[in-house]
Parts: sequence; C-alpha cells; structure tokens
Amino acid sequence: MTESVELPNRLGILPFRNKVLLPGAIIRIRCTSPSSVKLVEQELWQREEKGLIGILPVRDAAADTSVGPTVSQGGVGGDSSERASKVQVGASDGKNQQEVIHWHNRGVAARALHLSRGVEKPSGRVTYIVVLEGLCRFSVQELSTRGTYYTARISSLEMTKIEMEQVEQDPDFIALSRQFKATAMELISVLEQKQKTGGRTKVLLETVPIHKLADIFVASFEISFEEQLVMLDSVDLKVRLSKATELVDRHLQSIRVAEKITQKVEGQLSKSQKEFLLRQQMRAIKEELGDNDDDEDDLVALERKMQSAGMPSNIWKHVQKELRRLKKMQPQQPGYTSSRVYLELIADLPWEKASEEIDLDLKAAKERLDSDHYGLVRVKQRIIEYLAVRKLKPDARGPVLCFVGPPGVGKTSLASSIASALGRKFIRISLGGVKDEADIRGHRRTYIGSMPGRLIDGLKRVGVCNPVMLLDEIDKTGSDVRGDPASALLEVLDPEQNKTFNDQYPRRISFHYLNVPFDLSKVIFVATANRAQPIPPPLLDRMEVIELPGYTPEEKLRIAMRHLIPRVLDQHGLGSEFLQIPEAMVKLVIQRYTREAGVRNLERNLAALARAAAVKVAEQEQEQALPSSKDVHRLGSPLLDNRLADGAEVEMEVIPMGESTHEVSNTFRITSPLVVDEAMLEKVLGVFVFSSVMQPPRFDDREAAERVAAPGISVGLVWTNFGGEVQFVEATAMRGKGELHLTGQLGDVIKESAQIALTWVRARATDLQLVAEDGMNLLQGRDIHIHFPAGAVPKDGPSAGVTLVTALVSLFSRKRVRADTAMTGEMTLRGLVLPVGGVKDKILAAHRYGIKRVILPERNLKDLVEVPAAVLASLEIILAKRMEDVLEQAFEGGCPWRQHSKL
Ligand code: ADP
Repeated sequence: MTESVELPNRLGILPFRNKVLLPGAIIRIRCTSPSSVKLVEQELWQREEKGLIGILPVRDAAADTSVGPTVSQGGVGGDSSERASKVQVGASDGKNQQEVIHWHNRGVAARALHLSRGVEKPSGRVTYIVVLEGLCRFSVQELSTRGTYYTARISSLEMTKIEMEQVEQDPDFIALSRQFKATAMELISVLEQKQKTGGRTKVLLETVPIHKLADIFVASFEISFEEQLVMLDSVDLKVRLSKATELVDRHLQSIRVAEKITQKVEGQLSKSQKEFLLRQQMRAIKEELGDNDDDEDDLVALERKMQSAGMPSNIWKHVQKELRRLKKMQPQQPGYTSSRVYLELIADLPWEKASEEIDLDLKAAKERLDSDHYGLVRVKQRIIEYLAVRKLKPDARGPVLCFVGPPGVGKTSLASSIASALGRKFIRISLGGVKDEADIRGHRRTYIGSMPGRLIDGLKRVGVCNPVMLLDEIDKTGSDVRGDPASALLEVLDPEQNKTFNDQYPRRISFHYLNVPFDLSKVIFVATANRAQPIPPPLLDRMEVIELPGYTPEEKLRIAMRHLIPRVLDQHGLGSEFLQIPEAMVKLVIQRYTREAGVRNLERNLAALARAAAVKVAEQEQEQALPSSKDVHRLGSPLLDNRLADGAEVEMEVIPMGESTHEVSNTFRITSPLVVDEAMLEKVLGVFVFSSVMQPPRFDDREAAERVAAPGISVGLVWTNFGGEVQFVEATAMRGKGELHLTGQLGDVIKESAQIALTWVRARATDLQLVAEDGMNLLQGRDIHIHFPAGAVPKDGPSAGVTLVTALVSLFSRKRVRADTAMTGEMTLRGLVLPVGGVKDKILAAHRYGIKRVILPERNLKDLVEVPAAVLASLEIILAKRMEDVLEQAFEGGCPWRQHSKL
C-alpha cells in the first residue's frame, strides 16, 4: 500500500455505477454480466501475475450492462472542465433502445486481492467474485471497447517522489496534515471508546503516508456519490487533505449526535424495560402466592366504580386525566397513594345517589316528634311548619334551622327526627373547635396527608347526596391564621352559592382537595349552637334561630319518665319486670345529682342505675340457678363482674345460655322487679363526705348559705354554654397601694364591669356610709381582689355588674348578703341597671340551686313569660331599676344607707 505503483498505459475498465473506489479502499464485487465476466477473465483470471484493472465511476445508467457498447463520442478528457464523457450504448438486440452512460474521466486502478469463480446452476453461466484494492488515481485519455468490455488509455495522477518531497516541505501542507491527523485521531478515539477496541487503528496514523490516509479514512464513511467524486478529483494533496479533514470532522460530529440520541433512547428504554420486567416478576410472585388482588385489576375496578358513580361529564373528564396519571405510576412512587385516595373519594362520593324521598305525612311526622320529645311545643310547631313548606315545594330553599340551647336539650335528636320524618339519612358533622378553613373546604392536595374537609367526608360516609346534615356546634368555630371556617360555611349555607360547593376557594379552584365542584343543593342543613351570640352575623343571617332553653325540674321528670327510662332500660336489656325507678327517685336524681339545663347527665345517671340493676339481676339469677344446671353455674356473676369492672355495658343477649330452654327460663327468672330506692341512689351515684353528714347528695340547698357566710361575697346568675349558672363573686381587701386585682379567667368586658363597679362604689362611698363624712378614700392603703370561682372556667359578659357592686358594698360595709338571693344585671357608671339575656335559663339555674329570691333588671320583666309558672311560683322575683334597688334587696333588712343617698 505504501509503495508507488507503476501503471500500464492501458487498463481494462470496470464501470462502477454511482460509486467510487478510492485508493487504499478494498471492495468485493460479484461479476455476473458477460462484459464484466469477460473483463475479469481476460485482465485478471488468465494472467499469471496479479493484474490491474481500472475502476471508473459512471452515473445513472446501466453500468454493468449486458449489451455491447458503441462509443459514439470518443476522446474523453480533452476538456478538463467537463470531466465526464458520454458514451452511447446501443442495444444489440436491434430494439433500437439507447442508453447514455455518463463516464467519469478519472478512476482508480485496482489490484485483485482475491478471485473466485463460480457457476450459476440453472443457466450454467460463469460468475466471478473479485476482491479489489484501490491503488492510485488515473485519468482517462481515451475510452474504447475490447470485445465486450471497455479499455482505456490512461495516465497516472500519482505524484512522483520528488514532487512528493517538495509538497512535504510546504508549510500549508504541514499545517493541513497536522489538522487532519488531529481530527482523525479524535475520530479514532471516539470509535475505539464506542467499540471498546484497542489502539490498532492508531497505528495506521503512524505508518501510512498522509495523502493515502486521507483516502482511506474517507473511503470508510458513507458519503454521497458527489462527495466521493470530489474526493476522487482531489488530485492536489492540499485540496485532498482539507476536504478529507472536513469529511472526517463531519463524521465525528454525526457520531457524537447519534451517540447522544442513542444514550437518551437507551436510558428511556432501559427504564421502561426494567419496569416491565419488575412488573412481570411481581405478577409472577403474586400468582405464586395466590395473591390475586392485582394492582392493575384494582385500578380497573376503580375506574368502573368511577364510571358508575354518575358524576357530571366535565368532572368525569377531569378525573380521567388523574386516573391516566395513576395508571402510569408505580405503587411505590411518591404521589401514587395520594392520587389513589383522591380518586377513591371521587368514586365514593354520592354524585347522584339519593335516598328516595317519601311522601311526607305531616300527621305522622307530628306524632313522631311528639313521641320522641316531651314538651318543646313551639319548637315542634316550627319544625312542622318547616316540613309543610317542604311538602308543598320540595325544592324550596327555606332557611337553615339552627337550634340554639344548652347541651342535652334535644337539639341533635330533633334534627334526626326531621331526617326520619323526611325519610332521609342523617349525618352529624361536628364543628366544635374547627379553626382551620381547610376543615370545611379541604386541604390543598399538595399537602402531605391532605384531607377532603368534614362536609365532603360526611357526604362520603352517608353515601347519599340528599341527607339531613347537622352542622353541630356551629358557634364553636373560631378563626385564626389558618383562615375563617365561618366564611366557608357561609358559602355552604348560601343557597345561591352552594349548588357548586367546590370544597375549595371559589377563585383558586385548583388548590383545594376535591378540585371539582360538588352540588350541595339537595342537602338539608340543620345547625346547632349553644349560643347564638358567637355565630358571625352574616352566618346567623342565613339561619333561623330556634331557641331551646333548659328544662325545669318538672319537665325533666316527665322526660325521664316517658322517654329516658324506657330507652335506658332497653339499651341495657332490662325491662320493667327487672327494674323500676319510681318518680320520687327520679326527682331526687334531678335535684341532687344533676345540675344542668338539659337532660344528658340525668340520662347518664339513669344508665348508671340500670347497669347496677343489671348486676343485681345477674346475682339473683345466680342464687336462683338450678344446682343441676352446670352451664348456668359456669355463666355466673364473675363474667358479669368482669364486664362491669371494665365499665362495659351489660349485654344480656350475648351471654351463652346453654342448650336447654328450661334452663334458659330459669336463668333469668326473678321473683320481683328491683325497685330503686334512696340507698341505691347513694350507693350507685356517689358517696362522699360533706360536712359531718355521711352519704349526702352531690348538690344541696345549703351550699349557697355556706358560701356567703362572710362579707364580700355575693350570688350572681350567669349564662354559660351549659345554660344558666349560679356564680359567686368573692371580694377581699388587703393592705396595698389601692390596686384592683381580678382573677378567675375573666374576659375584657367583665374586667371593665369590675372597674365600673369599683368606681361607682368609690363615688358613692359617703352616701353608702362606707367611709366617714370627710370623704376618706376607700382604697387608701389597701388593694382590692375580686375572684370569680370556678377559677378554671373562662367568664365574660356585662351581666355581673350588679353582683360586683353588691360584693364590694358587702366587703366595705362588712355586712353579709342574703344567701337566698341571687342577682343579674348590667350596670352603667351612673348606677342604672340594664337588661341582660338568658333570663329563663338563669331563673331555672337559681331554682335548681334552691335560691328563693332573684333580683332582675326591670326591663327583663317581659322575659318572665318564658319561665314555667311552677318555677316562678317557687321564687320571689324582684325587679330593679337602679343599683340602689339592688342593694336594698340584697341585704337582710334592706339597705340601711338608702336614705342618705342623694342619687
Ligand atoms: P343536644 O344535641 O341538645 O346536646 P341531644 O339531642 O343529644 O342534646 O339530647 C340528649 C338526650 O336527651 C337525648 O337522648 C335526647 O333524646 C334526650 N332529650 C332531650 N330533650 C328531650 C325531650 N324533650 N324529650 C325527650 N328526650 C329528650
């Protein structure tokens, strides 16, 4: 390859169609046409030494033609600007078909490296396979035919040794060859890296002369025919080198780009292939384990469930997107679970599933309300009106009923009665302590552990889109930095808006959990609150407040006898044949063991009696058990004792009772029902030491007397979440700098009341004969401390004004207030007594407490109509206009200083 070649003047020519053989390259040709077979036979096969032939490119014509050519235009190459010559090849079969062959006028002489001869079987034609190596360029002087093949008179285009040496001195050539070598080296490195071959190719760069290297490199790429021709025509070494550098560089870039793409594709492929493989393996493992709840099947089931959930089409479209995303995810992938939980929720929501509304029978509804609830005539009447409107216009958006009252007065059970009257499901959503708006609207789904909000969650649990939904303790929602739940509720309750409650911000739709609108218009909302005052006005505005004040002891007695006792006995598997609670005992429970506005504690105490009775019944059963009955013995009281020790309810029906029905009847046969008596009350409901008397009840009339035994204490009436309460106010004085100390978890309003009270007392100290005529300062050298027990319960409101003044006057005058008198009223700085709220509850509380006289603001007279007559009859109600009226009544024998008052 390195030695220069002596070319003969004439060469047999093999046309090379649309291809170029460059020096240094090796090709393998299969010769089948008669002309090429002839050429090979004549020029190569039959010669002793290895012969040479010329390979000449031809363009766009039948190069390996089987017909003999007729040279119509001889003498190629005369014109250097037009290096191709045209040869007309006439068809020898006389069909007059002519083809024009475009010969290139430069070719490459080639030497056969290997020859093999074969015979095509059916035709018996001889063929050759020739391996040729390109040696050097030549130019065609004249093209002619010899028999069936071409020959050409040629001249070599190789440089002589001297020419070569001259060029090698040329600085341009040196620079070019350096550049070429560098590029070639780079290419080799890339290729070697790719194919992980050793540095064999690099050896070429060292051993082969640069001008040949250029050809060898270019010959190994796939470049266009045109470019191959250009290369072939680059006889000038510098031209050839620069062309070759350009081509090598281009090849290098294309390899790099291809590599990048391959890497990318390979990366993706391998990841998905890996996942596929893993999934297959997982499936195989699951099959092996018999664990068929395949995740994919689950998703199919989920999709089916979503399809049948009946959601609106736009929502279906939206969640389909999410489902597609989920399908592409792996269960271990972050976000899979949250996405899935979300879709499960969407599938579970009652988009159109509704309980069938029964034809409302108002009479039956009234009977039901009456049978479930004692008293509450006005409330029940209002509920019937509400139901009547619904009956006439089922889709009317009436006001939202809001039952306001202390705990245990039947708010929840009234709401559930509405549901059963309408034949709808009932769901209670507790809003107590909800401070976060997200509790109503749902979190944004980007939060870890985000939740859908209580309303949507409630709808999912109830499973129908038209339940009666009780928003319990709506007054207990607060607002803080996490937003305002009340405003979210407002949106829920607002008929105009709640058709599409988004469980999200109306404007920032995409952020909250559900992320799609949900129609709440079929839900009937009912709310409860302990007090109306904390409910934000806009929310209150959309509700109709129905007040349920506390019950009087007589009402409680009736409720207990008619409703609570039968229910409690039933819940404990007892009947009246087992336990009887006489009215007198219920009265005692009400008086001594409960001090509440509602009946919840009463119910609890009755349940305690029932539990105790159950134990007694079981013990009796054990005593009476037939000695022969082994089963019954085995089921003796230890079982029940254990249960009771755990505080569990006694469930008679789950105790196995043996096989014989005879034994069963004996097991629970008791001689007479157990009748609750006072001793049992005290034993069951509480035994503790009070004074020196043993076994007293929890509450008793003497408490007030005990507590106001010293001056400086007055008895007030306040209104709390639990209804009316008796509130003692304690004032004391000690040496100090004239400061006022207030304790007992007081709010701002009550603190101000205390200031007003002190100012009023100081201003009237002389009139009230608290100080001598000369007007010595009341606070001279002393501090005042006012305390409101119980210290742990927060208190606020203006209604303690008169009580505070009374306590202070008592303190300074060193006179005790009357223990049988309680009071309520706000006081102005000028001593006017202003009306207060919750009068009925306060009077009931006083009554419960055994108070005999109640001082009320005069303007509260109108509220007395609400108080049951029986309670009023047992109390002396005193109406006060001014503070002096209060003081007059608060002390035994009246206020002795009144006549001195100039007010
Ligand atoms: P609230 O929701 O007001 O706190 P509930 O509705 O839970 O009170 O009532 C507590 C218990 O008292 C329930 O068992 C209820 O049936 C019973 N109850 C309350 N008021 C009455 C009433 N007027 N008649 C019959 N039972 C009542």
